[in-house]
Amino acid sequence: MPRSRDTDACPGALQVHHAADGALVRVRLPGGMITADQLAALTDVASGLGSGTLELTARGNVQVRGITDVTAAAEAIAAAGLLPSATHERVRNIVASPLSGRAGGRADVRGWVGELDAAIRAEPRLADLGGRFWFSLDDGRADVSGLGADVGIQVLDDGLALLLAGRDTGVRPAPDGVTETLVAVALRFLEVREKAWRVNELADIRMLLPTADPSGATFPVRTRPPVGWLGQDDGRVTLGAAVPLGVLPATVAEYLVAVRAPLVVTPWRSVLLCDLSEEAADVALRVLAPLGLVFDENSPWLTVGACTGSPGCAHSLADVRADAARSLDPESTVHRHFVGCERACGSPLAGEVLVATGDGYRPARSVAGRQRAGP
Ligand code: SF4
Repeated sequence: MPRSRDTDACPGALQVHHAADGALVRVRLPGGMITADQLAALTDVASGLGSGTLELTARGNVQVRGITDVTAAAEAIAAAGLLPSATHERVRNIVASPLSGRAGGRADVRGWVGELDAAIRAEPRLADLGGRFWFSLDDGRADVSGLGADVGIQVLDDGLALLLAGRDTGVRPAPDGVTETLVAVALRFLEVREKAWRVNELADIRMLLPTADPSGATFPVRTRPPVGWLGQDDGRVTLGAAVPLGVLPATVAEYLVAVRAPLVVTPWRSVLLCDLSEEAADVALRVLAPLGLVFDENSPWLTVGACTGSPGCAHSLADVRADAARSLDPESTVHRHFVGCERACGSPLAGEVLVATGDGYRPARSVAGRQRAGP
């Protein structure tokens, strides 16, 4: 049952969450895009003001726990250009095909990411969206449309499809009207939402678009990031590095920064190092792989995930990250997500969710078709 609340407590860089292990800040990265200098700034925040780790969220954002000085953290994040709007910081939730414009896909959606981000920030009313309302831009490879974002675009062979809650509405926006269409849907959502914070909490998506097909097609749910050596269309190389359980030590992040490449944080808790020469990619791979980053598509780390759990989250009945790490199974083909309570934060829409009981885990009901909770 979708949850309805009067208030939205989703954290940001300014609206921090006070967790069991201290203040938590979350930084939105539209399209997952971040420069080496910006990652360096977040790494400094994590090591100087936080717990010493960066956490990659299921929406391609980054958060830091255990912040001792929230004002100093916000100032550092803003100085890095990662806080362009104080009023809209938590609603810049845009996921895009991470390899778009570099390898494969039917279109390069990176331009739409920037346009949409600017349009969201320019519309005062959109500051009232919840921090979990998100937009998706899928370049045609059907990697992010299956994440079930509230409103999105799927590039087709012969046009564009407008999606609501991950479902094809049958509406076909014009390419030059993408941003306008997505903003209009979000504004309409604010008009009709009552206590809903997500589109799938509405009784009927036709409340947003009278012509939308409520039984339109959905897209496969992807749970694995692209990892390893990924050839770009221009001959250069992207390295895909999965981050076990999304926990990136600041000491390892410093090595990612040192590559001095454009980075993309994916919604599958991985980082892409982009636009590398073959020589640079070879050197980076030799340095980064021994640090625990995962470049092997057969790694068991790619089939396991976990929420924060104990000790960081007061709701948790277990140290789910430790339990997930102990459960690695090279034979498993099913993605398993360990959670410390019924909220099931970060659960993918496919695979198995294991809920802590205090003396073990029990499988939750199938997550297929269920709305994901949490970050
Ligand atoms: S699923 Fe429960 S225990 Fe895990 S992070 Fe969310 S609220 Fe905390």
